[in-house]
Amino acid sequence: MTKKFDLIIVGGGIMSSSVAYNLYNDGYTGKIGIFEKDRGYEYSSTPRSEGGIRQTFSTEVNIKMSQYSYKKYKTFEEDMKVDNDLAVIDFNENGYLYLLNEQSMPIFKDIIKIQKSLGVKTNLMNQLETQDFFPELNVDDLAGSVFDPEAGSADPYSVLQAYVKKSKQLGATYIYDEVETILTETSKVTGVQTVNGERYIAPIVVNAAGPWSGDLSKKIGIEIPIKPLKRQLFSIDTADKFSKEIPFTFDPTGMHFRGERSKIVVGWATEVPFGYDFKLEKSFFEEEIWPLLAARSNHFERLKLESGWTGLYDYNYVDCNAIISDHPEMEGYFIITGFSGHGFQHAPAAGKGLSELIQLGKFETIDLSPLSVERFKSNKLIMETAVF
Ligand SMILES: Cc1cc2nc3c(=O)[nH]c(=O)nc-3n(C[C@H](O)[C@H](O)[C@H](O)COP(=O)(O)OP(=O)(O)OC[C@H]3O[C@@H](n4cnc5c(N)ncnc54)[C@H](O)[C@@H]3O)c2cc1C
Repeated sequence: MTKKFDLIIVGGGIMSSSVAYNLYNDGYTGKIGIFEKDRGYEYSSTPRSEGGIRQTFSTEVNIKMSQYSYKKYKTFEEDMKVDNDLAVIDFNENGYLYLLNEQSMPIFKDIIKIQKSLGVKTNLMNQLETQDFFPELNVDDLAGSVFDPEAGSADPYSVLQAYVKKSKQLGATYIYDEVETILTETSKVTGVQTVNGERYIAPIVVNAAGPWSGDLSKKIGIEIPIKPLKRQLFSIDTADKFSKEIPFTFDPTGMHFRGERSKIVVGWATEVPFGYDFKLEKSFFEEEIWPLLAARSNHFERLKLESGWTGLYDYNYVDCNAIISDHPEMEGYFIITGFSGHGFQHAPAAGKGLSELIQLGKFETIDLSPLSVERFKSNKLIMETAVF
């Protein structure tokens, strides 16, 4: 196998594969090598994601990424087919529903103005309308809700596999090995070295290592504000069935649930220490989440906890938003990480953007320059209200 590439990507998750796919789809003719340490993607964030796709962000850059990605997910099965095999991803458009109390209502009213100005089809409902819309809910403490109809969820593992398959078909080489470090010479990247000491040469290296991206960058002396943050999700079955498929529903507490065929997936983003922690705590469901569910609907009183899983956010602890950027102090070093819980849905736009930055030296489709790594130095942070 040749040890020379035109471009190397560290990490083989959804971001990496979307970048490789978009590069080739945009006409790139170089050799791309993708390094993935976890061949079965057991601990990668992507397959552990909840798969939520929504438009309801509060900043222009995130809304535009959502709109682009939503369109791509609508036609994904056909666009990403390989040899006439459709890329089936189970995209269910059940919508996103935000339940609002007196405190959150004014905040969402402000966000809706931004969303509407950019063409997002958000609907604001009062308490009675919310009750009509979702009869099984207890709405006593609610002032109303916001519904995002062009939203829902898709199967992250299927999306990842489709990107990988398509990228391979277009010419990307996946190498199932762990990168020890990125190689540099006088403020320029020159390739990567694996844990076995093998060296691969390339003038461009992309850090797409998800929750591991902060530690990888530190190895070449470049700090980026990314740490692994544990999240837990649980799958339940209720004795009393709901009258329709449940949208991705956010409680004012931050606890959320959504229907997945006959089951319901629930989670809650509480504060936990950073770290590579994959331990599932059933007591978290029983003691913290279940009481919130039961307070929201009688239908959650009798339920069976069927399974659960943990996963790591590639968490940007400064402003909770992506970094899609080159680096002013390291020629040939590109970064795509920090999505903090909204990377799955933004992968199509993020990959397209980085492909443009690498090939053209600028963003064309969406201006992703607000997500540059330089924002941390200049303190031009992207303060997104609608991240959970
Ligand atoms: C529980 C949970 C729920 C989520 N829910 C949603 C949601 O509803 N909607 C949404 O949009 N997003 C959601 N996300 C976020 C989303 O999953 C991530 O932002 C996205 O998957 C990140 O993709 P990635 O390719 O950067 O990371 P990953 O999928 O983790 O890929 C990075 C890869 O790099 C590999 N790697 C790391 N270091 C090295 C190295 N040194 N050498 C070789 N390989 C390496 C890893 O093995 C990994 O496979 C959720 C995440 C979690 C954990």
